[in-house]
Amino acid sequence: MNVVLVGPPGAGKGTQAQRLQETYGLRHLSTGDMLRAEVAGGTAIGKQAKAIMERGELVPDAILINMIAERIGQPDAAKGFLLDGFPRTVAQAEALDTTLSARKQRLDHVIQLVVDNDAMVERISGRFSCKKCGAGYHDSFRPTKKAGVCDACGSTEMVRRPDDKPETVRTRLAAYDKQTAPLLPYYRRQGVLREVDGMAPIDTVARLLGNLIDAA
Ligand code: ADP
Ligand code: ADP
Ligand code: ZN
Repeated sequence: MNVVLVGPPGAGKGTQAQRLQETYGLRHLSTGDMLRAEVAGGTAIGKQAKAIMERGELVPDAILINMIAERIGQPDAAKGFLLDGFPRTVAQAEALDTTLSARKQRLDHVIQLVVDNDAMVERISGRFSCKKCGAGYHDSFRPTKKAGVCDACGSTEMVRRPDDKPETVRTRLAAYDKQTAPLLPYYRRQGVLREVDGMAPIDTVARLLGNLIDAA
């Protein structure tokens, strides 16, 4: 099964994708994580993307389209994938359709996490993750069980993203409304769009997503 999660920054895409990967064995593919790895590795793509990401704008389509086409072709994605953060423009969605149909694959669900954009600044301001294993947390909504210690791996090194500052979050939310929201009618026309209440508590959202996927 191939699934896309859509929603503005802070909607809960990464949080839910981590869980769905565990429960359903779908490979979680986050283009944000891939780009951050390129930046950390100082690659040519990373050098091009770094300043754009710091401003909260979108990295050029051509870079992302190549990155995902290559990634989806790898064996670990063959049993099914869960895209988080891609596509983010209609051009990316069209390119994804082309890549998938060439491989005789398709999208089963495009799931929109429906949220109130005004609540996203608070969500993102409290976001942090484990440097070692990537598990995601929130200061108020999803704290670690023991302060400063990762529930999943016991590491005490936690990180916050440089683009999670309130000013940058506003730019990212505006980019979502202008460049990414047009995906919703695109996928609705294809009959693959599903909606889930992303304002519900994390466990409830996980249950709603599970119901959708189980029903397929
Ligand atoms: P995205 O990947 O869509 O940008 P994340 O999954 O990283 O969003 O979630 C953003 C922050 O909000 C994280 O700190 C996460 O723990 C928290 N969070 C995610 N889903 C919910 C929810 N349903 N209710 C409250 N907080 C949430
Ligand atoms: P979030 O879900 O919190 O908005 P991501 O981790 O998905 O953040 O993305 C972080 C940044 O990486 C984005 O603000 C953007 O600059 C870049 N990025 C990630 N995915 C894409 C994409 N599909 N197209 C263009 N830029 C992207
Ligand atoms: Zn950890």
